[in-house]
Amino acid sequence: MLNHHEETTYQHRFKESVDKFQNIFRLTSVASNIIDSNLKIVKVNKALTELLGFSEDEITGTKILDYVCEEYKDHWIHLNNELWNKNRPFFKLEVCLLKKDNTIVWVNVTTILFKEKGITYGFTVLDNITGFKHFEESDKRLNLALKYSKMAAWEMDLKDFSVIPSKSHDSIFENDNSLKLWNRETYLLYILPSDGDLFNEAFEVLAEYRNFNFKGRILTHCQSVKWIHLQGEAEVDEKGNPIRIIGTIKDITQEKLLEQQREDFISIASHELNTPITSLNASLQLINKMVYNPDSKLREVIKKANKSMVKVNSLIDDLLSANNMDNHFMQLNKSVVILSELVNTCCNNITESGTYSIETSGDIHLKVYAVAERIEQVLCSLINNAIKYAPESKVIKVNIEEVNNQAKVSVSDTGTGIEKDELPLLFDRFYRVESNGSQHSGFGLGLYISSEIIKRHGGEMGAESEIGKGSTFWFSIPLA
Ligand code: ADP
Repeated sequence: MLNHHEETTYQHRFKESVDKFQNIFRLTSVASNIIDSNLKIVKVNKALTELLGFSEDEITGTKILDYVCEEYKDHWIHLNNELWNKNRPFFKLEVCLLKKDNTIVWVNVTTILFKEKGITYGFTVLDNITGFKHFEESDKRLNLALKYSKMAAWEMDLKDFSVIPSKSHDSIFENDNSLKLWNRETYLLYILPSDGDLFNEAFEVLAEYRNFNFKGRILTHCQSVKWIHLQGEAEVDEKGNPIRIIGTIKDITQEKLLEQQREDFISIASHELNTPITSLNASLQLINKMVYNPDSKLREVIKKANKSMVKVNSLIDDLLSANNMDNHFMQLNKSVVILSELVNTCCNNITESGTYSIETSGDIHLKVYAVAERIEQVLCSLINNAIKYAPESKVIKVNIEEVNNQAKVSVSDTGTGIEKDELPLLFDRFYRVESNGSQHSGFGLGLYISSEIIKRHGGEMGAESEIGKGSTFWFSIPLA
């Protein structure tokens, strides 16, 4: 039994702690409320009114569930049910609430039951995690953006060179998660030894430029060679000494490949154009000298100059049409064309000199619905190739036939032929056969352009060849 004095002290202490609770409840910056068994709010604190934007009067008496975003309601109801009816001691839940101004606030909800004067109430704390949520989402967005741009982020502490990588970082190195801790040394394990010095030099200029920049090759975990670009900006302490680098890492293998192709192309183009232009230049200088003193050789020189000019023209033509295939093709209309007539037009120039003859066989009346100028271009390209790459073949055969409802045209020579494995590659852009291509001018575009023209007619193109016997290039397009 408590004596009177003990009882008053106890009551006093109890009142004191209730007051303390009330004060904490009122003044804490954590939004809180008290609900009854009908989930109605009986008491709110200032932080909650500020969080939701409603006044105390507006909130009191309403149900907390009224403020919950629709998709979280069921889960919250279920947890409340367990709490109030199934002796669950408390629950925690992450939800979003709708504020008075219809914007969203993210909270971590914790509800615990307590009794006062025999009645059970729920005490709910709503921890505002909107900032964290936004951070989480922008982090997710950043990681996604980095992933799709084949980039990753990295942060290096310059005290011990330890690195904090972003999610996609390891996939650039095709790392299977066996390497967990990244630092300056681990990068060097991947970087090719010949590029290691460049990587180390990037650190040496950091204090001066506050910029980190390294482009080099790595050997990935799966043994493939990739080009990477590590960039970063140094953060400095109050004395101006770099303490941290924050930056990005990018897989630039494709860019490097394109750069290489561009360089190769420029060197091929200048080399190919240089030969006929030099010869043209020499001829023009000669003509210049001869013009006031004409002799019998003038004609010869003019002929040579013309030949060089034709070569330059055809090279430039190839370049322009390959670069602008659609326009090149679309400018002209289709009509009904007799194939053998197209063969005749492009043969006239060739047979004029008397060195080569063209034999046309098959169905000389076969008609197609096509862009005449373009099919003629394909035929000339095949016939010219036969003369260029099989000069010993003085007769070039052109056969026109109907195969499976299509018109098939084949151009055959009896030259040295082409290796089997080269055949499918001949129609690729810039492809030339090493062994015979270098003696003749060309960009390796003629067959590519031809196959594009045939494709746009809904047709097919191919080549057959036997070493020592000759080659046949053919195309087929729908009949008229
Ligand atoms: P280019 O003549 O500018 O090199 P093409 O695309 O017309 O480009 O030809 C690609 C390559 O195919 C040529 O470099 C040549 O090596 C090979 N080729 C084409 N036609 C023949 C042929 N009739 N006989 C042997 N090789 C040929």
